[in-house]
Amino acid sequence: MPGTPVFKSPTILAGLNAKTIKGDKREEYATAIMYLAPAKMAGGANLCAMAREAGCDPTHDNGGCLVNSGQAQVFSSINRARIAKTQRYLANRAEFMAELVRDVQRFIKWCAKHGVKPAVRLNGTSDIQWEVAHPCDKDGERFTSIMEAFPEVQFYDYTKVYKRVYRQLPSNYQLVLSYSGAKQRYAEAVTKAAQETGANMAVVYRTKELRDYFVDKLVQYGETCRDVIDGDQTDLRFLDPQGVIVGLYAKGRAAKADTSGFVIG
Ligand code: SF4
Repeated sequence: MPGTPVFKSPTILAGLNAKTIKGDKREEYATAIMYLAPAKMAGGANLCAMAREAGCDPTHDNGGCLVNSGQAQVFSSINRARIAKTQRYLANRAEFMAELVRDVQRFIKWCAKHGVKPAVRLNGTSDIQWEVAHPCDKDGERFTSIMEAFPEVQFYDYTKVYKRVYRQLPSNYQLVLSYSGAKQRYAEAVTKAAQETGANMAVVYRTKELRDYFVDKLVQYGETCRDVIDGDQTDLRFLDPQGVIVGLYAKGRAAKADTSGFVIG
């Protein structure tokens, strides 16, 4: 939307969308998202430990990874920038975390100026386990994670690394499991993790109509029946009720054409 305030930094990006500006109660937040190159797209380490198992690795399965959705599928320069950013992360994690701390501090100020609360999604197109092995320094103090360094910020992510929801996560970090039926072993394990921990699980349906059909119905995944909610009304997953299926519909050419089993229907 022309004229819409945008926050840009070397690591995270945010915009105030139309809903935010309208001041809907659920939209008092601005979300800054970090977009990296998923899986092994940048070479070196794998940023998405379960991508092969879940059948969404864009460098291997041509699955429904979000990296191929929206503008990124059209502008390869966008993906080149993501690869460069990911290479910075892989080359020197401590420096990258310092850069991220600076950008989150700037984002907090930007949110205050625009009268919104800050939310941050670090895994826009990756599945890094930020809660472990990612310490950072802020104002001369050492923190075990970026979430701990910024208790005033609400962090959230989708994840296919289902072991993460068994962890004691920082109270300001909401993780939503991401279902895929591409491989039976993964489908069973992610469903079991949702059942055992009560974590919400996002399911991507082929069309909006199919998603709408399931909304407000009880659907059985594994041994548990869960309510399906419309997950596209907002992306603010930390405002969702607990123990639900977050119903989304496929967006972007790659997701719509996905045949891996990630997209349902
Ligand atoms: S885990 Fe997420 S970001 Fe990584 S390849 Fe799969 S869909 Fe893409």
